[in-house]
Amino acid sequence: MKLPDEIDCVLFDAKAIADRVGELGRFIDIAYAGKGLVAIGVLKGAFIFTADLVRKINVPVEIDFVELASYMVDTKRSGEIVLEQDVEIKIKGRDILIIEDIVDTGLTTRFLIDHINIQEPASVEVCTLLYKPARQRVDVPLSYVGFEIDDVFAVGYGLDYGGKYRNLPDIVSLTSAS
Ligand code: 5GP
Repeated sequence: MKLPDEIDCVLFDAKAIADRVGELGRFIDIAYAGKGLVAIGVLKGAFIFTADLVRKINVPVEIDFVELASYMVDTKRSGEIVLEQDVEIKIKGRDILIIEDIVDTGLTTRFLIDHINIQEPASVEVCTLLYKPARQRVDVPLSYVGFEIDDVFAVGYGLDYGGKYRNLPDIVSLTSAS
C-alpha cells in the first residue's frame, strides 16, 4: 500500500504488530487460564486490535465494545469524556479486560475503569496496543502493553487522524499532527 505524503515514518509494520499481538494473546491465556474473560474493545480506534487479539486468545472469551468520545477545545482535549455506547454484557462478577488502542494522558482509560468498577466486576485489567508514558497525566494500571512510543501522533491499524488512516496495515507517525 502506498503511504500518504504526511507520514513521517513507520513505527511498527504489520509483521511486528502481528508478532506482538500473538505474544499478548499468550500472556492473556496464561493469566486467565481456567476462568476466561470478557474483552471490551474501545471504539473506534481499537476495533482492529480487538479483532486480532481475541483470535489469539484460547481461553473462553466474550466480546463487547464501548464507544467513548473525548472532546476537543481549540485542538486540545478538554478532558470531558462522554460514553457514546455502553457495554451490553453484564459485568457484575466477571473478569474484564479493556482493550484500548492508545493510552496517552490516561484520562479516557481512567474514566472507563471507573465506569466499569461501579458495576462490580470480579476484576478489571487493561491491554493497550500503544502507550505514551511521557504524556501520562493520571494513574492507570496497564497489565499488557503492545508498544511504548514517544510523544508522536500515531495512525494506522485502527487509529485515525480526522477519520483517515484507520485502514493502514502498519502503525505510522504523522508529521502534520504531532
Ligand atoms: P487519553 O489522552 O485519554 O489517554 O487518550 C484519548 C484518545 O486520544 C485516545 O483514545 C485516542 O483516540 C486519542 N489519541 C491520543 N494519542 C493519539 C495518537 O497518537 N494517535 C491517535 N490516532 N489518537 C490518539
